[in-house]
Amino acid sequence: MNLPDSLLESAMKNREKTAYYFLDVPTTYEELNMSVNKFASGLARTGIGKGDHVALLLGNSPHFIISLYGIMRIGATAIPINPTYTPSEIAYILKNGDVKAVIGLDQMIPYLEKIKTSAPKIKHFIICETGSELNTEMEAFSEVLHSGDADFTSGPINSEDTAVILYTSGTTGRPKGAMLTHENLYSNARDIRDYLKMNSKDTVITTLPMFHVFSLTVALNAPLISGSTMIIVPKFSPKEVFRVAQKYDATIFAGVPTMYNFLYQYPESNPAAFCSMRLCISGGASMPVALLNNFEEKFNVVISEGYGLSEASPVTCFNPLDRPRKPGSIGTSILNVENRVVDGLGNELPSGEVGELVVRGPNVMKGYYNMPEETSEAIRDGWLYTGDLAKMDEEGYFYIVDRKKDLVIVGGYNVYPREVEEVLYGHPDIMEAAVIGAPDADQGEVVKAFIVPRDEKVDKEELHQFLSERLAPYKLPKSIEFLQELPKNSTGKIMKRELKSRVLQ
Ligand code: AMP
Repeated sequence: MNLPDSLLESAMKNREKTAYYFLDVPTTYEELNMSVNKFASGLARTGIGKGDHVALLLGNSPHFIISLYGIMRIGATAIPINPTYTPSEIAYILKNGDVKAVIGLDQMIPYLEKIKTSAPKIKHFIICETGSELNTEMEAFSEVLHSGDADFTSGPINSEDTAVILYTSGTTGRPKGAMLTHENLYSNARDIRDYLKMNSKDTVITTLPMFHVFSLTVALNAPLISGSTMIIVPKFSPKEVFRVAQKYDATIFAGVPTMYNFLYQYPESNPAAFCSMRLCISGGASMPVALLNNFEEKFNVVISEGYGLSEASPVTCFNPLDRPRKPGSIGTSILNVENRVVDGLGNELPSGEVGELVVRGPNVMKGYYNMPEETSEAIRDGWLYTGDLAKMDEEGYFYIVDRKKDLVIVGGYNVYPREVEEVLYGHPDIMEAAVIGAPDADQGEVVKAFIVPRDEKVDKEELHQFLSERLAPYKLPKSIEFLQELPKNSTGKIMKRELKSRVLQ
């Protein structure tokens, strides 16, 4: 099985059912499947075929879904890219990924015009609905779509072929293209669907960016193969999330912890809007336990935390729905996927001990595109090394302790920023917090905290007292900087790299 065939199956079962609402306009499964067929055959007519790489520079929209499934249906490979990346970041991916065609937003025309000269390998530029005049060498998305055939059938899809390449920084260095096969993507969407019991009665809010793997599998592929209805929210805002949750009786919301924080803090937050919500999913970064508890209490919902990474399509662990959920934990291994905690030599550690989390299963990428050395560094003896430090309890629940590279070593003692952050989030006057290591002449490194206060006044002495009662002296932040907001990427993850570079300036 694969995603395009599975979408076809959903369309046969749920012809008249709404696959998604976009700007409050519904599209049925039958209409979606026809558009995918037409776009796939339009692409084939343009000369794009099996094995070609097509970049998507698109926000959350039907264009994204139709392009992605159309590309996969003809056996080509999609490379979703964050459209807010800088021109040099985008140029790097287009070149490194041997891209043959780009599907982009009309705002990008001036930029795409420029790269046409520097990237001669790119043969096609397909532009989504434009008001502006199109250069003759660019094609309109609507024309490609309408030139296609709604009854198009493609040849069989090989499950080992690369369906999507996702560029990720991974643990180090320049972005690398994680090659996810049809089997990788399908198996993870299916396992998540089954684990969360997602079904055709569900209505899922899709506001995480579709170019990111969390949204791609959990809020797009899994809903489509389960026949549920997606509410596409192009840009996250608490107001819009509350509006659509209430209007469409949404049952599932997926977000990163900062989104939960925004929803929680929003002055006009509306707990009644979440009354149909059967499940809130958190992932992408660790969910502070204080925020989880506060949110659940205010909105009367259950938040289930999971964990994943681009290289694993992404999900490897989730808190179960039919067994106790453990706040602070990423849950247990999902179906078909194995997780282990290992020492530096790859030996499995007993429960309770901290080591690197490694993963094995049908969801693990085939490798990084054109990077054999990085691939053999990441996948050893069939296990994907995640770069995350974790421990497992006796019941098989995993806890992310921190990223290996974020570990702070204070005079020889290990400090996991997450532990300090958890304490900070427990303070009533703190809205957001991030902790990093700062260089120190005496100790090598010391702990530095960045804090966004709830309102202007945080009593520093009282805060110091609060922290000293909860943390050993070497874990106490040596300095605390107050900010109005923390730097975040477009997925909403806090960018520690940026905070670190501030400290090194
Ligand atoms: P990405 O490839 O962009 O999805 O980033 C993957 C990384 O996000 C992982 O290696 C973790 O460091 C982090 N991550 C994802 N989910 C969680 C979670 N629930 N708790 C802590 N870190 C997480």
